[in-house]
Amino acid sequence: DNKTHLGREKADRSTRDQVLDKRTEAIIEHMVRKELISELQGVISTGKEANVYAAPLYTYDDEAGVQTGTHYRAAKIYKTSILSFVDRERYITGEHRFRNGGHKGNNRKMVKKWAEKEFRNLQRLNRAGLACPYPIQLKANVLLMEFLGDSEGHAYPRLRDVELEGVDDNEIAQQWRTLYIQLLGLVRRLYHVCRLVHADLSEYNILYHEHVLYLIDVSQSVGHDHPQTYDFLRMDLHNVGSFFHRKGVDTLRDRTVFEFVTASSGGAQHADDPTADAAAAAETIEQLYAALTTPAEGADGETDTEALAALEVDNEVFRTQYIPQSLHQIYDEGMVARGDGPVGGVEALHAKDSLYRNLLAGDKKSDAEEDAEEDADEDNDEADEKD
Ligand code: ADP
Ligand code: MG
Repeated sequence: DNKTHLGREKADRSTRDQVLDKRTEAIIEHMVRKELISELQGVISTGKEANVYAAPLYTYDDEAGVQTGTHYRAAKIYKTSILSFVDRERYITGEHRFRNGGHKGNNRKMVKKWAEKEFRNLQRLNRAGLACPYPIQLKANVLLMEFLGDSEGHAYPRLRDVELEGVDDNEIAQQWRTLYIQLLGLVRRLYHVCRLVHADLSEYNILYHEHVLYLIDVSQSVGHDHPQTYDFLRMDLHNVGSFFHRKGVDTLRDRTVFEFVTASSGGAQHADDPTADAAAAAETIEQLYAALTTPAEGADGETDTEALAALEVDNEVFRTQYIPQSLHQIYDEGMVARGDGPVGGVEALHAKDSLYRNLLAGDKKSDAEEDAEEDADEDNDEADEKD
């Protein structure tokens, strides 16, 4: 009856109204006119900061006047009136690329920055040949990208929701281990070739399809110049490590994995070849497993509780104390905000510990070049906005 009909209409609208203010509506209409999409369809995900929609593009046979097919895209629409963005300030503060972007008190601009950051980061990932959505268009708070899903509009599952199939538990466990190794290779490539740390990596921000892991949700990913890069990397690796551990994978120690990702000898040799890079990563990881000579992790199957306890302590020390304390000591936040970068102590630390040697061994010039490129883009955007 009339009442239920109105009720439903209201419910439908409320999902959209969260995000689709007048300006956002106008952007969608523009994308429809440009035939980038035909409409916004179902909501794939409603999040704190953004909603993701399936956006079909219908193809027609103009002469016959019939629809011939549907090609799906994904539209991530950042919410423009959201307080949780305050939380995310810290991702921007101190990062070179956004040094000049103080957007406190201006939500729309702030949200636009996030969408922009995600768009650029997706470009970087694509350039490096990492599996992720291809970014199609960005307009203010609307990011249009490749749809990761089937031709019917069903998105690929998040890694969290994946149930692997196999002949027995052993085979399934083996598949999880293979995915674990694949992911570590991706994180290493992301670090060395894209020069990024995801900074929100977990089983929720990885999609899975046919043995391939796709990285998504990279708006908060940070470059090597961010003061908390290594905190985020450590957190990312810990998150995915414990996920795979829960799946029964004999995961490597946090510290070992951190060294694997940051080692300056890793990844760089195969910058132009993602497949060779993945193979090299897998080989290195197998070597790391083979090199585990402590009784606790030895191949003889015996567990030495003392060694195991020592490993746990080492892990815990690494996790909770090692990097945070050091980083907070070497970075003066005020200096970072002014763009002066890290000061003092770095050289000493550099010499003191191989971890930091790995971390600091990057090619500074390429970073600067990349930034110059991106600053130029930003200037263009601003010019666009004025006309
Ligand atoms: P949030 O910031 O809300 O976490 P995400 O980028 O993680 O946003 O996207 C939320 C969800 O939307 C993902 O978990 C995934 O299920 C889905 N999703 C995001 N991007 C795509 C895409 N390109 N193709 C298919 N599904 C996607
Ligand atoms: Mg997410």
